[in-house]
Amino acid sequence: MTERLGSPSTGVVVTGGASGIGRACAVALAEVGRPVAIWDLDGDGAAATAQQCAELGVKSHAAAVDVSERDRIENEAEPTLTALGSVGGIVHAAGMARRAFPAVMDVDTWDVVLEVNLRAHGLIVSVFVEELQRNPGSAVVGIASIEGLIGHGAVPSYTASKHGLIGLTRAFAHRLGRSGVRANAVCPGYIATPMLLPTLTEPGSRERLEQTVPMGRLAEPEEVARVVRFLLSDEASYVTGAAIVVDGGVTAAGGQQLPELT
Ligand code: NAP
Repeated sequence: MTERLGSPSTGVVVTGGASGIGRACAVALAEVGRPVAIWDLDGDGAAATAQQCAELGVKSHAAAVDVSERDRIENEAEPTLTALGSVGGIVHAAGMARRAFPAVMDVDTWDVVLEVNLRAHGLIVSVFVEELQRNPGSAVVGIASIEGLIGHGAVPSYTASKHGLIGLTRAFAHRLGRSGVRANAVCPGYIATPMLLPTLTEPGSRERLEQTVPMGRLAEPEEVARVVRFLLSDEASYVTGAAIVVDGGVTAAGGQQLPELT
């Protein structure tokens, strides 16, 4: 286990931890000794990540949780706290995207996208807020997106949810700052995970996407997880209300080219 100066020893709840960015976050946190609870729709996948974390020598806990269900979130809080012993961090990485293209809005899936990507973060912070305030150095991170900063015409509800997640993060930073709880968002660009890769199955589509990235490549989920780990550590002790871009320069260069719209 890597000892890192300034990492609290409190537990962290990671949603979406069965896959992709959430799983990488859970493992990165376990590597510095933080107990982790994995909440995901995919209970078997959550258990596999929890096992991987336990093998790194930390307490871990897995739960099949649909974060669009308020009751499920509220009911899982106590077992999670009991399993970890404390909660001083939350990473909301569970997410979903629904395409509207060629329609202008994905009317039928709007509610569930907003519930999963946005409302769930607010509910989870709410159920743990007193515990977070009890533990010095507590912090929460919402995994937003570059679509929280720029518009993506093919996924309007996703874009709205990620803009909303950054707004919610700023509200939490304002509301919780005096009690010592920090709140930040991370805005990934194109990350090689099961969410992105199915859209890149056509021959040459991955290469075309990579050409729109100033750094010329997709990222691995661990490259996002290391930023999340920093934000949850005392090394980020004065960072709150920020939306940190991890996108290889896409937004710096003025935004993305949408393969299906160009
Ligand atoms: P991923 O590999 O598909 O992981 C997302 C996880 O969230 C999956 O395990 C998924 O379970 C779970 N999930 C979905 N709906 C859920 C629900 N209602 N309750 C509980 N868990 C649920 O995708 P990822 O790329 O790591 O995405 C993680 C976050 O990063 C998302 O918020 C995404 O919007 C954001 N992000 C990703 C990228 C990218 O390029 N990959 C870029 C920007 C932002 P199932 O597989 O069973 O549905």
